[in-house]
Amino acid sequence: MRNPSDSHQLFEQLLGLVPPWSVTNVNLDTVNRLVEVDVEWSKGHEPECPECGRSCSIKDHREERRWRHLDTMQFQTIIRSRVPRSDCKEHGAKTINVPWAGPNSRFTLLFERLAIDVMIAAKSLKEAARLLGLSWDQVHHIQKRAVERGLERRKLDEIKHVGIDEKSFLKGHKYASLMTDIGGARVLDVVEGRTLEATDSLWQKLPEETRSGIDAVAMDMWDAFITSTKTNAPQADIVHDKFHISKYLGDAVDKVRRQEHRAFMKDDVETLKGAKYLFLKNPENMSDAETSRFNELRMDKLKSGRAWSMKEMFSEFWSYTYQASARKFFDRWYWWATHSRLKPMSDVAKLMRRHLDNILTYLRHHITNAMMEGFNSKIQSIKANARGFRNFANYRIAILFYCGKLELYPA
Ligand SMILES: [Zn+2]
Repeated sequence: MRNPSDSHQLFEQLLGLVPPWSVTNVNLDTVNRLVEVDVEWSKGHEPECPECGRSCSIKDHREERRWRHLDTMQFQTIIRSRVPRSDCKEHGAKTINVPWAGPNSRFTLLFERLAIDVMIAAKSLKEAARLLGLSWDQVHHIQKRAVERGLERRKLDEIKHVGIDEKSFLKGHKYASLMTDIGGARVLDVVEGRTLEATDSLWQKLPEETRSGIDAVAMDMWDAFITSTKTNAPQADIVHDKFHISKYLGDAVDKVRRQEHRAFMKDDVETLKGAKYLFLKNPENMSDAETSRFNELRMDKLKSGRAWSMKEMFSEFWSYTYQASARKFFDRWYWWATHSRLKPMSDVAKLMRRHLDNILTYLRHHITNAMMEGFNSKIQSIKANARGFRNFANYRIAILFYCGKLELYPA
């Protein structure tokens, strides 16, 4: 640029500066590939007190601060300024707000926006940090501010159905409890542990008006979740959902199959060798080869086959409209399971009977925690990058960043 004032004007436009802010100097450092832009509050203008907005005189200027801005043609771009302090009669000396950055941020608003986009697109915070030329801590800090902003703006009215579920983290050493807004398909919050105290603190994250407006809560048959929900949202129906029940039934079938396979192998019978996946697969999704292998198993003669049929049969339960008919169906199914001489099936049937009232509620609300599965891959990748998440608070921030559907950008 021939005339230095051209470059000043250019940066004023790029930064959206309006008087009395102006660019006073642009320093191009070709060795370090750096552009430094000096911004000043012109003398003779009265700033506003950031607390009350009153026009004040200038008390003094802070020492020089630096903000990282979007790169200019691959040159890192830094804004430098000595920000004035207003001298308010009521609030005293206050550093005034700058238009290019949020309070206490070391990055401009546009840079924070870019960093958020990069974090959303990148596989990990480490990768985002590399792309942005920042440290892990700096990227994490931007993420944390974005989540805090999002939580402040978040609307919690009209939440009717929530889900409570556990997640293991740190390679399964520890548990976290999550609350999801089922209608809004978002994670509301995460706390460490899955005890009664942990679940209570999870509920307390929601304001009273939200808690008292909830109709139903989907959850596993887990005492801490049940007890805490009865205390914190006594009006809400508890729903032990299809998703969890199917998991219990699937695990029971798998137990029967493993026991039977072990017994067979003692006699060198290989009938069930490598058959695990067939039992886990939905028959509708089987290939022709898998279907014929499955049929050859002579399911009716196998304990695993009977257990599997019992599980398949139960899926009919979810299609009932009337609780009384569903209860009758359950009683028949229960008799079958408990007289099957298949202990894992009988055990899970007894567990379900104890909680039957709160399984029947599914027929009224039709809610499940299946949405959690959708978040799993994202949460999995957060876990895989757990190096920085030894601290639970960081893990929570990452989950809310990716799964909280928050408005993350600076205003
Ligand atoms: Zn003031």
